[in-house]
Amino acid sequence: MNEIKLFCPATVANLSCGFDVLGLCLEGIGDEMIIRKSNEKGIRITKITGADLPLETEKNVAGVAGMALLNHLNLEFGFEIEIHKKIKAGSGIGSSAASAAGIVVGINELLGNPLLRKELIPFAMEGEFLASVSYHADNVAPAILGGFTLVRSYDPLEVIKIKSPKDLFVTIIHPHIEVKTSEARSILPKEIPLKTAITQWGNLGGLISGLYTEDYELIGRSLQDVVAEPYRKNLIPEFDNVKKVALENGALGCGISGSGPSIYTLNKSYKTAENVANEIKKVYSKTKIGFDVYTSKICDNGVIKLK
Ligand code: ADP
Repeated sequence: MNEIKLFCPATVANLSCGFDVLGLCLEGIGDEMIIRKSNEKGIRITKITGADLPLETEKNVAGVAGMALLNHLNLEFGFEIEIHKKIKAGSGIGSSAASAAGIVVGINELLGNPLLRKELIPFAMEGEFLASVSYHADNVAPAILGGFTLVRSYDPLEVIKIKSPKDLFVTIIHPHIEVKTSEARSILPKEIPLKTAITQWGNLGGLISGLYTEDYELIGRSLQDVVAEPYRKNLIPEFDNVKKVALENGALGCGISGSGPSIYTLNKSYKTAENVANEIKKVYSKTKIGFDVYTSKICDNGVIKLK
């Protein structure tokens, strides 16, 4: 096999009480990537559509993540890639992670899968470092493994894939405003009261248990973030209204996706997710801010080989 076409999924990180550790993979939203073997060593990005992103290997997360993997494998040949972006950069649904995950999974597939998917995560994290100047796995892990993923530890890296209940559907609203990840980080307190920490880890335990036992009410009760959301929500216009409307219309929970500006809701059934989508659209329609709304199943596979 000399060429592969991939679906590179969008992801929701910072899932409320899973702030900085828990993410999920979306099924219906993602980029496409084509990777071809080439006799020339290294990685060349030959085409990008859908976004104005650098073609230079060292300035593109796909190039950086791919080179990290190539250097590890010490290959005598290289790859050419085409990236067809559908996920808007800076939307908070893992635009850079989709490219970082896609390139490492694609190269591994073209080589006959010498590495396990889990083993690809550190190379994708090298790409993420370019986008956010920090090594984080909360978007690349779900993009590579699919489902929900928990980063239990960074040193050593330990990522746990968590079972995803079959009736869960995600609704995302992406308001067209910019939230700088650096600002979203800088407004968080450096320390939190013990009481706050206890609430957060109680909810995270509840959420993980709810996912395994398919206890949707428990999932709903647990989807709360007392650490980051109280500060970060102020960067997203209408956040409180969107959350109120989503919960009133049957969403199990609602929170900030990544570091924003996207807002996610989890819902039991496609019908509820669609209903929530329609109702939260109404909230943003009353503002002058443009927006996109998506409804998606949770993707259990991560990056998918299309052909
Ligand atoms: P999101 O907020 O959706 O998670 P990120 O903030 O992770 O998006 O990534 C966006 C940043 O990464 C932008 O500054 C963008 O220019 C840069 N970038 C570099 N290469 C890529 C790529 N292949 N895909 C998306 N973003 C990229």
